[in-house]
Amino acid sequence: MGLPAKRRTKQSKRERASHFALKTFRLTTCSHCKRKIRPHMACPHCGYYNGRQVLKISSKIEKRAKRNKIARGDKKEKEVTEPKKAETKTTKTAEPKKKA
Ligand SMILES: [Zn+2]
Repeated sequence: MGLPAKRRTKQSKRERASHFALKTFRLTTCSHCKRKIRPHMACPHCGYYNGRQVLKISSKIEKRAKRNKIARGDKKEKEVTEPKKAETKTTKTAEPKKKA
């Protein structure tokens, strides 16, 4: 194990540590969906950057369908997606009633 040759003074420790703090970054608003986003990055909510869509953002329904596809296997892909959409719509309407 390496041993420090000299003792580090309180001051030198603190001077080094003065740069450790995390800096806040300013957020800008998305030109498409008007949500707060990090500057110079594509919007994670709608996938827009500089006025055009650069990322394909999948909705919750699509994500659920994908998950089910993976769980059930590739053979039933087309059959699974259609009934799933109907199910999710019914659950969405049912959820707020339970909460309220
Ligand atoms: Zn956006």
